[in-house]
Amino acid sequence: MSQHGYVATPPYSQGQPGMGGYPAGFGSTTSQPHYGHYGGTGHLKPVSSPHGPSIPLGHPPPSPAQFSQTSLQNGVYNPGNQMSSYAASSPGSAQPPSFQSHGSHPQPMYQNTAPASFTQQVVSQIGAMKIGGYVGSSQAPSQNDPSLPGPPLQPSFQGSHPQQRLPHISSPPSQGMSVAPAVPLATMPPGGAVPPPPGMNINHAGLNQGSIGYQQIPGQPPMAGYPPQQGGIYGGQQRGVQPNYPGAPGTYPGAPVTGGQLAGPPQKKLDPDSIPSPIQVIEEDKLRRSGQLFATNSRGQVPPLVTTKCVVQDQGNASPRFIRCTTYCFPSTADMAKQSQIPLAAVIKPFAALPANEAPICVVNHGETGPIRCNRCKAYMSPLMQFIEGGRKYQCGFCSCVNEVPPFYFQHLDHIGRRLDHYDKPELSLGSYEFVATLDYCKNNKPPAPPAFIFMIDVSYSSIKNGCVKLICEELKTLLDKLPRADEAETSAIRVGFVTYNKVLHFYNLKSSLAQPQMLVVSDTGEMFVPLLDGFLVDVHESQNVIHNLLDQIPEIFAETSESETVFAPVIQAGLEAVKAAECSGKLFIFHSSLPTAEAPGKLRNRDDRKLVNTDKEKVLFQSQSSFYETLAKDCVANSCCVDVFLFPNQFVDVTTMGVVPLATGGSLYKYNNFQIHSDGEHFLNDLRKDVQKPIGFDAIMRVRTNTGFRATEFLGSMYMNNTTDVELAAIDCDKAITVEFKHDDKLNEEYGALIQCALLYTNVAGQRRLRIHNLALNCSSQHNDLYKSCETDALINFLAKSAYKAILSQPLKIVKEILVNQTAHILACYRKNCANPSSAGQLILPEAMKLLPIYMNCLLKSYVLLASPDIPTDERTFQRLLVTSMDVEGTQSFFYPRLIPIHKIDVNSEEIPAALRCSEDRLVDGGIFLLANGINMFLWLGLNTQPELIQGIFNVPTFAHINTESTSLPELDNPYSRKIRMIIDNLRSQSPYSMKLIILKQKEKTEGIFRHFLVEDKGIHGGASYVDFLCSVHKEIRQLLT
Ligand SMILES: [Zn+2]
Repeated sequence: MSQHGYVATPPYSQGQPGMGGYPAGFGSTTSQPHYGHYGGTGHLKPVSSPHGPSIPLGHPPPSPAQFSQTSLQNGVYNPGNQMSSYAASSPGSAQPPSFQSHGSHPQPMYQNTAPASFTQQVVSQIGAMKIGGYVGSSQAPSQNDPSLPGPPLQPSFQGSHPQQRLPHISSPPSQGMSVAPAVPLATMPPGGAVPPPPGMNINHAGLNQGSIGYQQIPGQPPMAGYPPQQGGIYGGQQRGVQPNYPGAPGTYPGAPVTGGQLAGPPQKKLDPDSIPSPIQVIEEDKLRRSGQLFATNSRGQVPPLVTTKCVVQDQGNASPRFIRCTTYCFPSTADMAKQSQIPLAAVIKPFAALPANEAPICVVNHGETGPIRCNRCKAYMSPLMQFIEGGRKYQCGFCSCVNEVPPFYFQHLDHIGRRLDHYDKPELSLGSYEFVATLDYCKNNKPPAPPAFIFMIDVSYSSIKNGCVKLICEELKTLLDKLPRADEAETSAIRVGFVTYNKVLHFYNLKSSLAQPQMLVVSDTGEMFVPLLDGFLVDVHESQNVIHNLLDQIPEIFAETSESETVFAPVIQAGLEAVKAAECSGKLFIFHSSLPTAEAPGKLRNRDDRKLVNTDKEKVLFQSQSSFYETLAKDCVANSCCVDVFLFPNQFVDVTTMGVVPLATGGSLYKYNNFQIHSDGEHFLNDLRKDVQKPIGFDAIMRVRTNTGFRATEFLGSMYMNNTTDVELAAIDCDKAITVEFKHDDKLNEEYGALIQCALLYTNVAGQRRLRIHNLALNCSSQHNDLYKSCETDALINFLAKSAYKAILSQPLKIVKEILVNQTAHILACYRKNCANPSSAGQLILPEAMKLLPIYMNCLLKSYVLLASPDIPTDERTFQRLLVTSMDVEGTQSFFYPRLIPIHKIDVNSEEIPAALRCSEDRLVDGGIFLLANGINMFLWLGLNTQPELIQGIFNVPTFAHINTESTSLPELDNPYSRKIRMIIDNLRSQSPYSMKLIILKQKEKTEGIFRHFLVEDKGIHGGASYVDFLCSVHKEIRQLLT
């Protein structure tokens, strides 16, 4: 940001000691052909501390109880170390992993539908998927019938592949696992009616016979979902640097695994009830921690899961609402980190909304002096600073530098070396707080002006015709009264402006003294300028009459338009120029309908070339087609102009390119395919209302500081970076999260832990410059056990998804997916190697905190973005890619593993919501109603035999046949069923930044097909392995790594 006229050097222009020139991004600046988090460690030379020997801090605060919640569950099997273990058959299989075999699912019968009609369907449906009937009746799950006889399994093996075997549970209940203790009947050894004893090596031969193979249909081609593992992704880079694996160089079976496809007929499957269940993990965490107080007083505490509601009390560390980490105990050395391959990352949501029952952020004002900072590393005063010499000096927890305490800030220390005013000062006792920033932190040393909101409405033919323009104008009349304002202010300081456009742009003078708005047309879009300064941005209240007049007129002025062409980049330019001219920050709300094909800068062509899918050129689909937008984005960031785009497409609009500016400016993207007022109107308006009103900061710059030994190396999110350390955000709202990866550059000291300080300088909606600080202290350890038990899989998936979605810009999807699978296996193999008791390699042993890694990883691999199926429109894939990029942990958790709620189990006499079910077709019942939501989509699935009482209660119609599936909302009826289901829906919507359109589906009707994609434990309708199959393949890779 310094190039943009920030004079104040102290805040941000100074490099953090120890920061080297890190290559930015994946592979872009290195020659390594992969994006792996560890493969590229060649450039991560340990850098010795520039600070010399560190002086010990006086107060290492590790709590003795930090792991109490997990250690409570330790079982007899491996004290001090929770795990879930899954036994499988004998080790030493010569069979290479055969990911290919997963995918050979029965081809959907609708495969040959004409593409044209299909596309039409797709666009009008939410997820733009093929519509088709279930093909699943003959599918895997049906073979799980535990009543099937156990013994005669052998014959199902064919030829030379007898070793395809499935792990089955051997884990006893005493281990505190959440899996069913009993061995699934279907996997029992012949004649073996009793589960094997806990933790023992079981009869492998027997198991082998009884083991379950992959669901391979002979003659089916391998599916694209899981490419065969190839040596060299990590192999070439990693072999030799894994001292913990026996015989390091030869440890990794580097030989490319090819073929490996099973030729056997369908075999017995693992009982899905016996493998780790996300629902069980979520419910157990709720049971244990829901409603409790989570006080952030000790270092390295693992917070409750995002799905567990609790009250957070800031006692010195940032709330998990602001920062969540992949692990709360960092490995002490780079070597150890490399061995485990667990990414070290924090997901930071600096503006997270806090519930009403938690204390709001405190504001500290040091007047003209400004915040107190370490002289050397510029870290801000925080609980991580240690006061010494009677309070005259303090030692920085980040760089160990000893600083003088400014006289105005002096305070005596008590007998334990703590300042007497410790609890009076938020910056000494809290993890999160704000400083009022001085002029030094302002652009050009001038206090910023309040931000502007500019509404820019496409008035071309299709926008007028579908009613969108009228809807927007109507809504804005009331919405403008609800613009964000400072807590103490009565009205919002935000000024507003309006532009309409098709091929040309229309600006409006809304000066309060005018009786009528004045329109000024700019038809030369080549050199965009704003034709008026005075009167374009106005105060909502002063100009209310003129604004309402304009909003009434817009739909009428363009009612008869026949103009179908639009421009897009000039619209952004116009908004940007207006923001620049007003010398403020701003947010553009662009409502746009079509591919901008009119002759103008940033003109786009239709390039939805799905022939590229599954080729090395597929990455092109995720790259913008015009560099114009990158330049524009940069310009927007430099002038703190955030861009939100609401798309209403009827066909391909190149979301990839049109999303460039929103993505770089901290903006949001919304998309309503084939927009129709009656079905999408409310959905869109709810999104708009949320978007306009949400808490937001402008002109922001974020810096993440760490203590000696590690540093932030990679930033993923809706933001822009001009150098390797400063995250530039034209704006950041309460829903945007930035995921930061850390790497070691030295050893971490177990006594001091790993400290993180995130500082965000921004302008609030009132135009005040603020510094928001979040501090978090993590543990570190040289024991793998500590690392593994402090992991948070939900955060891990957030990081892995964002980094994979970034990697596909530069690498073939196949490679990216291989790396993900590989990394999963490495993480779990390292645990097995270092933490689990010695046992047969045939046992699948998962760390307790990471037992959902395989299922979540499989969901990521099956997401539209990584699926590489030509059936999925490119715009849809890109759209999801962009959404995930700015998601927080809660967002990615429900996006990748949706909530499936059995509505028919509602207890109308209780406030409770029925517990969610696992996302599998097996869980659906004919007599049931199920609500499925993932934060973006929402479905209500109606079973054929739903009770008439429920149908009447919810839909106010007598029978199943009378239910109107065209409707996207439920009637507001005064009965307990209706109230309860609407309450559940509202509740789910309130948890997501997106309003989620409700789609009603009936069992056995053709639209039901789109629902299947979200049953993520099953085989994907567009490809992708079932959970069971994926778990097997991961287990196989682990075994290979261990041999
Ligand atoms: Zn320092």
